[in-house]
Amino acid sequence: MSTKYIFVTGGVTSSLGKGIICASLGRLLVARGLKVTIQKLDPYINVDPGTMNPYEHGEVFVTDDGAETDLDLGHYERFLDIRTSQTNNVTTGRVYFDVINKERKGAYLGKTVQVIPHITDEIQSHVLKLGQSGNYDVVIVEIGGTVGDIESLPYIEAVRQLRYNVGRSNTLSIHLTLVPYLSAAGELKTKPTQHSVKTLLESGLQPDILVCRTEHSLDDSIRGKVARFCNVDREDVIESIDARSIYEVPLLMQKEGLDTRVIEKLQLTTPAPDLTDWTSFVHAVCYPDHQVEIALVGKYVEHHDSYKSIVEAFVHAGAKNNAKVSIRWVQSDNLTAENVAQALDGVDGVLVAPGFGGRGIEGKLSAVRYAREQQIPFFGICLGMQCAVIEYARNVCGLNNANSTEFDESTDHPIIDIMYDQKDIENMGGTMRLGKYDCAVQPDTKAYEAYQSTEVEERHRHRYEVNNELRSILSDHGLIFSGINPGRDLVEMVEIPDHPWFVGVQFHPELRSTVQHPQPLFVAFVKASLVHAHNKA
Ligand code: GLN
Repeated sequence: MSTKYIFVTGGVTSSLGKGIICASLGRLLVARGLKVTIQKLDPYINVDPGTMNPYEHGEVFVTDDGAETDLDLGHYERFLDIRTSQTNNVTTGRVYFDVINKERKGAYLGKTVQVIPHITDEIQSHVLKLGQSGNYDVVIVEIGGTVGDIESLPYIEAVRQLRYNVGRSNTLSIHLTLVPYLSAAGELKTKPTQHSVKTLLESGLQPDILVCRTEHSLDDSIRGKVARFCNVDREDVIESIDARSIYEVPLLMQKEGLDTRVIEKLQLTTPAPDLTDWTSFVHAVCYPDHQVEIALVGKYVEHHDSYKSIVEAFVHAGAKNNAKVSIRWVQSDNLTAENVAQALDGVDGVLVAPGFGGRGIEGKLSAVRYAREQQIPFFGICLGMQCAVIEYARNVCGLNNANSTEFDESTDHPIIDIMYDQKDIENMGGTMRLGKYDCAVQPDTKAYEAYQSTEVEERHRHRYEVNNELRSILSDHGLIFSGINPGRDLVEMVEIPDHPWFVGVQFHPELRSTVQHPQPLFVAFVKASLVHAHNKA
């Protein structure tokens, strides 16, 4: 069977949740036994989002192969229980970069290099790559941005051409649009959708299915009107009403018949989707028996998307523990030794978040100290783990002013430092330890108890490490290195044995948590926080 391609565009406005719709459709197709992946095409000029500000772009999602990608890839992995790679995220910057490199090498044989055909051909070749791997029955392609944007045009044109090149029955165009409710008129309005589809038609693309985001149910007459004006069948007008949880969206889409329509149009034959596990997961998310409050200490807390995968990993781990995890967002900039007790008062767990740069570090160190001394379950991720090590060096080992050379290059005690074999790599963006690495887990530790395995793999995104030259001072004072990267002998996990649950990890466990496979350390951390809550009561 040749690979089928589903192109998903968005209209009217951004933030309609295109990534969630793609992930939900993907989940339904996987539940029908199909092999599916999702690709995100981003119309910005950055080659990847790796250098973009978290306020601007939210979290940078890192894949196993070390690609720094859009956070929608996180949704794809969490919903579909798949692994994505660099191929799953293409930006305009990358497309131009590749075309210009080819041009410099003379690959275009002296021709004038143009948007059409060279840029559009390059986009098509990126899209076809996943299908050509032979690994997938269906590739869903999410086109970032909103139809009508100047920068989206080459993508829409590439899709238009692709639909001819790979054959009509092998492709499908889904358009996600908004049907707003005007409270003054007391009515849902279809005009923005009509205009959006008209804009698509101007570029030669007729949508096969319309998914309409709405706050109110679409009645028959609205569905009829949308169908009539937009050239689609009435059954191809799919309502996407606000959900209690993003994880409920696949169930709502199935009720609306989205997957059935897709299967029919692509001429696929599959059994009905098996959503038993998914339904019980959604039930656990919506109706948990327990509740626990965990502080997330970081400097981007006003912008929750900066911590997207952490938030979602808590949803997965919460459901596994039959608990709702409420996050108390704590801004590290304002945290001091004096106010930390008040800021963290009553929480049952403290997570110190990843990050870059010195801002907010002293606040994070206060949070670590409070959790350590008050015996509150603690989870430090990447920079959060480095803070835990600095705090331990200063306040337990007595190395006053111990620091990371990231924040103080001339510190007397560089307990966190760049390891020598990485020091000579100069370029920003080229110096990071990125992607999946092995970690050997020491038996009889909290880490082992969580993973139940001595060999695990987790994803990384950092430059600095626990300094191997000073490592013995930490272990002499009781800190345990419960995870080590065997290849380079680097500290991957630390923990304090005489504490209910104090674990720091150099990697990003949140990036591998999925609905079907909640991340073990998150599950154990939530469990420990529940015990803390229980003992308090
Ligand atoms: N800034 C730290 C480093 O580069 C931690 C990075 C992170 O938290 N992702 O090592």
